[in-house]
Amino acid sequence: CGIVGVIGRGEAAPRLLEGLKRLEYRGYDSAGIATLVDGGIERRRAEGKLVNLEKALAEWSLDGDIGIGHTRWATHGVPNEANAHPHATHRVALVHNGIIENYRELAAELKAAGCVFASETDTEIVAHLITRNLEEGMGPREAVAAALKRLEGAFALGIVFAGEHELMIGARRGSPLAVGFGDDEMFLGSDAMALAPMTNRIAYLKEGDYVVVTRKGASFYDHDDNAVEREIKQSAISG
Ligand code: GLU
Repeated sequence: CGIVGVIGRGEAAPRLLEGLKRLEYRGYDSAGIATLVDGGIERRRAEGKLVNLEKALAEWSLDGDIGIGHTRWATHGVPNEANAHPHATHRVALVHNGIIENYRELAAELKAAGCVFASETDTEIVAHLITRNLEEGMGPREAVAAALKRLEGAFALGIVFAGEHELMIGARRGSPLAVGFGDDEMFLGSDAMALAPMTNRIAYLKEGDYVVVTRKGASFYDHDDNAVEREIKQSAISG
């Protein structure tokens, strides 16, 4: 339902939480955050309102200057902690808005290949698809691009990779996603509202685009993997 991503200066978790609060107006049933701590993926997730996630973070804090956050409106799998995003493997963590229509076929294929699923969501298959591509030797961008070509449905995705402190990938098909430009820091958001506390310099992905975000900027690609330019606009929403 709502997506936030941060490659920042300083702790990512409080800013992710702040972005998620800006997205509360959209409605949600659970929420979660993943960051990279010494290269490894760490998550905190909670059923219910953001105050529950805040409590979990107060109890077990989450370090790291890069991360992704999500407010979930369940479509596949009940609203509980195991089904809350981010979904992760040992290689990637990702958040997803929308629905992967062909997830049953993909899940059957992945299970046959030995993948073990930790949730009932349509989202988790995307994490396994990307992981399998990485394990076949693809780089992060290639692994995501190849996974996207297998997906049917409507989605926006925010993805981080174990061991990659300078990298976040976003994708958009049928569900909006924006990139926020900061000063030596960069952001992803499902709308400009989520990014308002961090920046008002925003570029929207066009339908079918994906974007490779580093601390210094963003490279946009269309659905045929051609590098494309997307205009940075000044958002009228203030932080
Ligand atoms: N289909 C996904 C799920 O049920 C994402 C739902 C959403 O957009 O929040 O977990």
